[in-house]
Amino acid sequence: MAETAKPLTMDTIVSLCRRRGFVFPSSEIYGGIGSTYDYGHYGVLTKNNIRSLWFGAMVQERDDIVALDSAIILNPRVWEASGHVAGFTDPLVDCRTCKLRFRADQLELASCGRKPSKHPGETPDCDLTEPRQFNLMFETHVGALQDESSLAYLRPETAQGIFVNFKNVAQLARRKPPFGIAQVGKSFRNEITPGNFLFRLREFEQMEMEFFVPPGEADEWHAYWIEARRQWYLDLGLREVNLRVREHDANERSHYSLATSDLEYLYPIGWQELEGVANRGEYDLTQHTRESGTKLEWIDPDGTRYTPYVIEPAVSIDRIMLAFLCDAYDEEVVGDRKRVVLRLHPRVAPVKAAILPLIPRDEGMATRARALYEELRPDHQVEHDESGQIGRRYRRQDEIGTPWAFTVDEQTLEDETVTVRDRDSLAQERLPLSGVREWLDDALVQEWRSPRSP
Ligand code: ATP
Repeated sequence: MAETAKPLTMDTIVSLCRRRGFVFPSSEIYGGIGSTYDYGHYGVLTKNNIRSLWFGAMVQERDDIVALDSAIILNPRVWEASGHVAGFTDPLVDCRTCKLRFRADQLELASCGRKPSKHPGETPDCDLTEPRQFNLMFETHVGALQDESSLAYLRPETAQGIFVNFKNVAQLARRKPPFGIAQVGKSFRNEITPGNFLFRLREFEQMEMEFFVPPGEADEWHAYWIEARRQWYLDLGLREVNLRVREHDANERSHYSLATSDLEYLYPIGWQELEGVANRGEYDLTQHTRESGTKLEWIDPDGTRYTPYVIEPAVSIDRIMLAFLCDAYDEEVVGDRKRVVLRLHPRVAPVKAAILPLIPRDEGMATRARALYEELRPDHQVEHDESGQIGRRYRRQDEIGTPWAFTVDEQTLEDETVTVRDRDSLAQERLPLSGVREWLDDALVQEWRSPRSP
């Protein structure tokens, strides 16, 4: 097998996602809408896996974190108190020549509208305005009247829904700091620089966890969460060479942050933030205490009062999915054919196994394949595929990252065994039909490392 070592481009991932039904441009029949995508069947399955793996690691497998699902539209005073109305802005520049708009701090990621395309500001014709601040929150109106009094926002982060519920949860969750509140849900940002596929969306699904700690323990917990989150990606097979931790300089931190480290992934567009882990200090609870008049503080049984500091790992499912897809995408030549394969961690892969009758019109094979499919599907996302040549069916499964295929063939009719084909090594072995279920259960809990690891 020969590896084809071309550098991966975003277009390659976009086209695989389109071809195999992971992701479509949203409202495509009307020409789409910038930086908004719809997830198809395999995209939804992959997202569900990422969400539940995150939730498992953050909530189910821990004693110190509880879940929350707050509303998307909150009282607009929340966003005044949090500083988003005044400060959730990006610097924007316009080009008077090509009439395009760019994020002033990310010109190196943008393309100028002139040909040959360069970065904005690089051609002699570029005529950029001075930067001005642009608020990223989407506005809407609540109720029948559309005036100042009904103005509201679609949340740009899920975190504020957690902070404003601090008292409710702290009273009821029977937890004391350090403890966390985790939330998954849609967030919305009117991003200036669209493009780069799932990396920068105007509507994305965030997974945030606010970990409330005694102030003296904040640095320690910040370091803990940076490493815990890094390890989560490595355990899910992300290659270590493509993941790094980068600490923010003081001038790039958000208005609320005392310290932030990004987990960066080497996307086809270069090293970019995959997940941020911030020490938000006491900023949010203090702000909401001041603005709402409700004391958001912790009172120890001995009467000591303090405002906890907050450590926040924040990420979107969309950016994780893009990182996993880029990391997994591989092309190789097998025999004289090119094979495209997604080497996804089996727990991330949308489909865990394919059940393939070699000759679908053979009654014995068809019946056994169908019975195996029915046996596996209550516990696992599996696919029964009887259309086309077996080689084509394998290639289809390789492209969606299905780790194993069970093929029912002539020998099955003689000895009730099936072939299991491994997506990565292409090795084939035989298993008794009656043992497939246990084999798959077991395979899915094994450690997995990418065969592409250096
Ligand atoms: P960037 O600097 O890339 O705009 P940010 O620092 O504003 O990101 P945060 O506010 O820290 O991002 O958001 C936390 C996480 O939410 C990010 O690490 C990323 O995973 C995700 N995220 C933020 N904005 C977007 C977006 N527009 N599309 C997809 N995911 C996003």
